[in-house]
Amino acid sequence: MSYRALYRVFRPQRFSEIKGQDHISTTLKNALLADRLAHAYLFCGPRGTGKTSSAKILAKAVNCLHPQDGEPCNQCENCLAINQESFLDVLEIDAASNRGIDEIRDLRDKIRFAPAQGKRKVYIIDEVHMLTTEAFNALLKTLEEPPSHVLFILATTDPQKIPLTVLSRCQRFDFRKINTEEIRQHLADIVAEENVSISPAALTTIARKASGGMRDAISILDQCIAFAGKQVEISHVEMVLGTISEEDTAALLQAVLEQNYQKLFDLLTSFAASGKEMKQILRDLIEYCRQLLMLNVAADGQLINLSENILILARQQAKQLSLPQLSKIVNRLSEAEKDLRYSNQPQILLETALVDLILQQAQPIQIQQTTTVAKPAAPQPVRKLIASDSLIQQWGEIMQQIRQQSIKLHAFLTEAKPVTFEQGELIIRFPAQYKFHYNTVSQLDNLRKIEQIISQAVGQAVKVSPQLENEQGNIPQELTLVEETAKLFGSDIIEIKD
Ligand SMILES: [Zn+2]
Repeated sequence: MSYRALYRVFRPQRFSEIKGQDHISTTLKNALLADRLAHAYLFCGPRGTGKTSSAKILAKAVNCLHPQDGEPCNQCENCLAINQESFLDVLEIDAASNRGIDEIRDLRDKIRFAPAQGKRKVYIIDEVHMLTTEAFNALLKTLEEPPSHVLFILATTDPQKIPLTVLSRCQRFDFRKINTEEIRQHLADIVAEENVSISPAALTTIARKASGGMRDAISILDQCIAFAGKQVEISHVEMVLGTISEEDTAALLQAVLEQNYQKLFDLLTSFAASGKEMKQILRDLIEYCRQLLMLNVAADGQLINLSENILILARQQAKQLSLPQLSKIVNRLSEAEKDLRYSNQPQILLETALVDLILQQAQPIQIQQTTTVAKPAAPQPVRKLIASDSLIQQWGEIMQQIRQQSIKLHAFLTEAKPVTFEQGELIIRFPAQYKFHYNTVSQLDNLRKIEQIISQAVGQAVKVSPQLENEQGNIPQELTLVEETAKLFGSDIIEIKD
């Protein structure tokens, strides 16, 4: 027997089996019983919340030979034919696949004909917002005066994109995201039927990650079973999703709150070593911070989507952060998520974002002041402050200059010591344990900025060469700047110019 995806096997066949949309199922069943169905319905809502399943059940219910309390019997020839997608009077159009022009034209030509097999012709148009304007206009003509034997069910994840003229002809139902507990319960029923054993934590994590979509939840479960077999643990789920645990996510934020760089980099290094996706970690962290925001604003815990064992720590963290702070954190992380799409250095991007958060926390006021002060100062003529031959001796003074222009760069340079300054080249060294500081300072943008500030301070062009010591306090091998840069950015994007 060929394999069938779980979400197909467990697709609801009756209104009573649709999860989390009782408000819609009840209204539709009552309309069926009272014989007061509208001619056109619009099902709106996020993906995987039951729109298409409800449309099919409704199509069956109107054509069923033995309906029971508004439910299809799922046994008569009409129900069976619809289930097998071989029923001539139920037509499904996927507007996303070809934008629907031919189908809608065809629909307009044939709509007048009476149903061939059943009582009513049902047109289900999925992702209807994808129709072209031309197709919408054709559809509108048929919606204006539909023959009594026709029922339209339009489904969309994006109702804003549907013309008002079409909206006004439909009775609209909004499908909600399904709550985590309901998803969890349904998954538990499925695994019981499939004879799969799954830990409660694994089940809850899948339910949470599906963020309100039952189909996604079942698909994730399916992947986990394919990966782990009949015994699914939380580690399998994390592996399949490429996510880190809630505890790890909380620990990451905790490192930021404690301004503990070492802990932060240790965590990130261990995530990278175990093959976690930086993109996913970032998403997990954004979602976690959103939950903290909710903890701060929601009176009851209803909307909170965190597991019990993390809740105490989460509440502490939420208390530590004001709403503006939390929203700033979410914004900064979302910005990093956007940048990530164009970056082949996801770890550096994530690290920089987290370090920014630490600095934001440490110096929220000064950062703003320096940026406003630094700008008008820039066009002024360069004033030579420090004699270049005493650059090393006056490093403290230089650092002050850097601090005035960038608290962030200053923070990264505090662990560096100046070693030599010869022929315009300043060598600075980082002890082995400050590899991250070294890496950050070595990024071209940062290095250029530092060079610019120092050059201004001493009144001559200064090239800065950072070095990283090994555990013994030596410089392990002579890497040229090109090699250093290649190490940082990948050799394929380095262009050497004399
Ligand atoms: Zn039936």
